[in-house]
Amino acid sequence: MLTRKGYIESKNEQDADYIIINSCGFIEDALLETIEETIIISKLKKRSSKIILTGCAVNLYKDQFIKDLFEADYIFNYQDFYQFFEINSYENSIYRRLSDRKWEYLLISEGCSKKCTYCTIPLIKGKYRSFDMNQIIEEAKILKERRVEEIILISQDTAYYGLDHNINRKEHPLEKLIEKIYELGIEKIRILYFNLDSLEKGNEVELLEKIYSSKGVIPYFEIPFQHLVDGILKKMGRNINFETIDLILKSIKEKFNDSVIRTSIITGFPGETEKDYLLLKERLLKLPIDYLNVFAYCDMQKAPSYKLKNKVKSEIAVERRNDLINSFEETSKNRLKRFIGTEDEIYIEGEDENYYMGRIWSQTPDLDGLTYIYKDDKSKKIIELNKNNKVKVRILDTFFYDFYGEIL
Ligand code: SF4
Repeated sequence: MLTRKGYIESKNEQDADYIIINSCGFIEDALLETIEETIIISKLKKRSSKIILTGCAVNLYKDQFIKDLFEADYIFNYQDFYQFFEINSYENSIYRRLSDRKWEYLLISEGCSKKCTYCTIPLIKGKYRSFDMNQIIEEAKILKERRVEEIILISQDTAYYGLDHNINRKEHPLEKLIEKIYELGIEKIRILYFNLDSLEKGNEVELLEKIYSSKGVIPYFEIPFQHLVDGILKKMGRNINFETIDLILKSIKEKFNDSVIRTSIITGFPGETEKDYLLLKERLLKLPIDYLNVFAYCDMQKAPSYKLKNKVKSEIAVERRNDLINSFEETSKNRLKRFIGTEDEIYIEGEDENYYMGRIWSQTPDLDGLTYIYKDDKSKKIIELNKNNKVKVRILDTFFYDFYGEIL
């Protein structure tokens, strides 16, 4: 939006009139990085250039920054930022960065109205606001014109899309949105951050099956659970129990034979005993999960969980995280071996000396590893390919989240 307004982007602090630091305030480390980065940049910049500190950390700590962080010339929350440069907020504009890749993210809402106690996003971003469906479709049209083939729907909570306006839950607004995107000719639609808490209680299985049976939807289920023990889920403010999680995963595997499931887990949440942790691990390893992210709980002053008692020492939270990752590794490796022998059409996204790189349908960009394709065929003849060439591959082997394949 700034470049469209006439500003020229510079990667060099010495050239810039404004240096914009877009901060993250989600975890304590990000906050420290914001402060450190602002101080470092203030020493590198030319005298006349102005530092603008903006982003999520400012939304949380604006007053403290104004008081203590003299290195920043302007401390802007989002609204101040848009006003200063006289640009539209991205919620009210359709603008996509130019790129030649075959997939793109499509943001469908902003904010969150859930009350997960470890999370500051509702404070940072405000209540859930679904973007207007027509605006999203306009944006999808632009992507289609740029030959994007896969759209990745993102939001703080995709399963809540439209429910802040629409109380008729018979047809979930997400189904309508997916249908309209598919009608544009986009045949691959991936849904991330699908929060089961947002589905009507008792109807979770039915609603989820309907949404994922919509034309174009990739059977890739990214469902953050955060924990699998009821007492901890309750303390986390997650409105779901293990029985429902188990039921839903079973139904996914029954209904969508070829599906892939990814989740995220937090270890060391306040009150998590050794027994809770062992139960979490036992359950996790039995569930049909393919991809996993594990975070050690990190206390944030502004998060409601900050006030909870029985904090787990951070070393223990980290130890449990590492143990969970290590235990899961073997399970995941074995599960992903089912892809050996499967075939898919993929786009070349990069290359090194020996391999071309791309992704089969089960691999989400930046999350699940890559498919490495041998550059030569069986007769050792090099196959010449360029970025965005489409090729059919067969998976020959897997190495944790990465796959190895041959061109057919
Ligand atoms: S649903 Fe996600 S964004 Fe919303 S409060 Fe919970 S963790 Fe935070």
